[in-house]
Amino acid sequence: MRIHSLPTQLVNQIAAGEVVERPSSVVKELVENCFDAGATSVAIEIEQGGMRRIKIRDDGCGIDKDDLPLALSRHATSKIATLDDLEHVSTMGFRGEALPSISSVARLTLISRTEAADCAWRVDADGSEQNFDPKPDPHPQGTTVDVRDLFYNTPARRKFLKTEKTEFGHIETLIKRMALSRFDIGFALTHNQREVLNLKPVTTEVQREQRIAGICGSEFIDNSVKIDFEASGLQLTGWVGLPTFSRSQQDMQFFYVNGRLIKDKLVSHAVKQAYQDVLYHGRHPVFVLYLNLDPALVDVNAHPAKLEVRFREGRLVHDFLYRALHRSLADLRPGSQEQRSV
Ligand code: ADP
Ligand code: MG
Repeated sequence: MRIHSLPTQLVNQIAAGEVVERPSSVVKELVENCFDAGATSVAIEIEQGGMRRIKIRDDGCGIDKDDLPLALSRHATSKIATLDDLEHVSTMGFRGEALPSISSVARLTLISRTEAADCAWRVDADGSEQNFDPKPDPHPQGTTVDVRDLFYNTPARRKFLKTEKTEFGHIETLIKRMALSRFDIGFALTHNQREVLNLKPVTTEVQREQRIAGICGSEFIDNSVKIDFEASGLQLTGWVGLPTFSRSQQDMQFFYVNGRLIKDKLVSHAVKQAYQDVLYHGRHPVFVLYLNLDPALVDVNAHPAKLEVRFREGRLVHDFLYRALHRSLADLRPGSQEQRSV
């Protein structure tokens, strides 16, 4: 067979294989776009576990009418322009792949209005990047992305979807996790028109603890130590659960690097080591932790779905985490709020 270039839609469908695993991955990409747009509230409407519909609306900066077709094109982004930008990236997105990927495996409508525009504009897409003809729409400032019939044209992918309940469960967990990374944003989540979450933006410490209690259970705040450590340009804040508050599963572990929820072996190892002497075998700690560091010290472009990161100085990060957690656990006083340096 001779070599030939693949059609755009197929290229996008191949890319979708890496980022769009199930409805919750669509939700993740779209809500991250709301974060990057400076939204203060995000409304997420789900129907039939996201398989029928995922509709996400924000009040962020919106997209220019002329940029709408670009937003749906592969490798087109407003977030980086040079390699240097990539190395210091502070937005959640930068690959310019989510919208074209999603639109290649679902029916997608994008409606958006910027502050300067006289009205909103709407485009419908099927991933093939042809004939976008924006139509006026009464949408207020901000953006709505409406995704219907996920995997309708990729039956092999559709087969891997689980029940409506399971798929929605993934979405609900994800939104809770995202809500713990952005207290300044309000989140409303509905499933089949029924309200599941309605989290107002947080302004006070009490409200912050209320949001955490709503997500991790009200006992978590009483059974955890609040921590705030800083050393060598690394900052670790958050709550670590007392060893007596452990679980049989790793389902209550939240770790964010510069606001990004990640899964990382190095982080897991440091946490495990810190809890080693105080937890029974087979028990898992509960924690909500935020690591902040210079974006140049962490490579977020390690994984298409951006669930993994690479630390430039892994050893330093590992030892910092271990020491910070070990100290907090050695000094178990629930509610303690002192700041120390490691
Ligand atoms: P990326 O986020 O990596 O740039 P996406 O495919 O997710 O790629 O989005 C493409 C572009 O569309 C973004 O760079 C952004 O300019 C625009 N965009 C997408 N969603 C929104 C939104 N909710 N609000 C404003 N702009 C958006
Ligand atoms: Mg994006």
